[in-house]
Amino acid sequence: MYNCFKITSRSGKARTGILKTKTGEYETPFFMPVATKGAVKYIDMDEISELGSYSFISNAFLLHLKPGLEVIKKHKGLHNFVNWKKCIFTDSGGFQVLSLNNFKDKFSDNGLKFKSPFDGSTHELTPKKVMEIEQTIGSDVAMCLDQMPLYGSTYEQVKEATNRTHLFAEQCIKYHKDKSQLLFGICQGGTFQDLRVQSAKFISSLDFDGVALGGLAVGEPLEDMKKMIDTSIKNLPENKPKYLMGVGSPKEIIEAVEQGIDIFDSVWPTRNARHGKIFTIKGYVDIGQTKFKEDLSPLDKNCNCKVCKNHSKAYLHHLFKTNEPLGNKLLTYHNLFFMQNLMQKIRKAIKDNKFQELKDEYSAYKF
Ligand SMILES: [Zn+2]
Repeated sequence: MYNCFKITSRSGKARTGILKTKTGEYETPFFMPVATKGAVKYIDMDEISELGSYSFISNAFLLHLKPGLEVIKKHKGLHNFVNWKKCIFTDSGGFQVLSLNNFKDKFSDNGLKFKSPFDGSTHELTPKKVMEIEQTIGSDVAMCLDQMPLYGSTYEQVKEATNRTHLFAEQCIKYHKDKSQLLFGICQGGTFQDLRVQSAKFISSLDFDGVALGGLAVGEPLEDMKKMIDTSIKNLPENKPKYLMGVGSPKEIIEAVEQGIDIFDSVWPTRNARHGKIFTIKGYVDIGQTKFKEDLSPLDKNCNCKVCKNHSKAYLHHLFKTNEPLGNKLLTYHNLFFMQNLMQKIRKAIKDNKFQELKDEYSAYKF
């Protein structure tokens, strides 16, 4: 493992940095759109880049089921398969198994047994297997197999999932051989402070390139999430990149950057766009509302994206109401542009040591 992260500026606890992976150097804090099966819904690879994203996250486990590792191997990895030259993160897939209700899943200390959502066949994901899959896929950053306890689980259940996550972490390190790929450990612990401390300390004791916080933004109040981030960060090494998995909304991202988080991913901008929920600096716009039927103004007059420059709310309302695929595409484009624009502003504010001013400015808006 090589030193993959350098902090370049600070504003309070917020920091900018450079994450160095096998495909390049990427400035943090950054936000990754979700490309679960190797595609961001409605947005092609050129557009992802055009929007200012330099990384996305895919799901190793789903790619291993479909199209299968042989096809990806023939392309010499996921980068070539999807035609993307910049950074790719892969998640192990444990979360996906939990989040899809039709999966019959069962964790044990060996790993995770589940039935495929595609054909019902039985599979086992062990830490060894997950490392083999992620190394074959060839992502820049591989995530460990972990067990995320569901929100609302008892202390004992969270403790068991956290201990198992630690067991998996040790195994993943053992079976991760490709040192050109970075490997991030995942901390769990639910909303229990002592378990978060234990998990942060345990994951810190292992030789990971970066550390992720899992199991947050799953339904707990924002204040609890902030408390858990704070508890974890105090027990994690300062100089390692920190990734808050599955977060989030602009408000959550600003709060987490303030606490020292460097990397984010979320389906927030893409999923909301498909439901007609559009983000603007003034808060959400629900484009399906009848009041936009004859509205000639852009989605957000302060936005410089091509959708806001070229189209009226009335047109976008029409596309949305008639279920035109173009509607999903344009709305997704705007929401992703909004997120990447926010990340750019965050990085600039940190460099100018004006992060608090940015936070105050955004706190005036409704999100
Ligand atoms: Zn726009």
